[in-house]
Amino acid sequence: MKNTRQKEIILDAVNHLDNHPTADEIYLFLKKDHPRLSLATVYRNLNQFALEGKIRKVSVPGDSDRFDAVLDVHEHFYCEKCGLIHDVSIPGLEAQLLNHPTMKITDYKLMLFGECESCRAH
Ligand SMILES: [Zn+2]
Ligand SMILES: [Zn+2]
Repeated sequence: MKNTRQKEIILDAVNHLDNHPTADEIYLFLKKDHPRLSLATVYRNLNQFALEGKIRKVSVPGDSDRFDAVLDVHEHFYCEKCGLIHDVSIPGLEAQLLNHPTMKITDYKLMLFGECESCRAH
């Protein structure tokens, strides 16, 4: 498979599996149609896309990295029960942090932890 084609299908998969898939999930999803694709290739391309700003890489302490096709400003909530990542928007947060009165904050990574709506209902 050509490199550019490989990149395309991996990027498409991140968009398709829209709930913050892991590299493994992306690999398993693509493997059916592209049996010669390797997990290492998927992982390498995902990290490259994240560096290029095409996707977001979401690091979870003690769990696999997730990949996010949504580039708009939003924060992440990690459910400690089901392990799913949910998008949370906190209006005004970015502006507040980046306009901190004393510190020059250039970037931040916020991860919220707890129990998601569907886990709480059970
Ligand atoms: Zn949950
Ligand atoms: Zn997200």
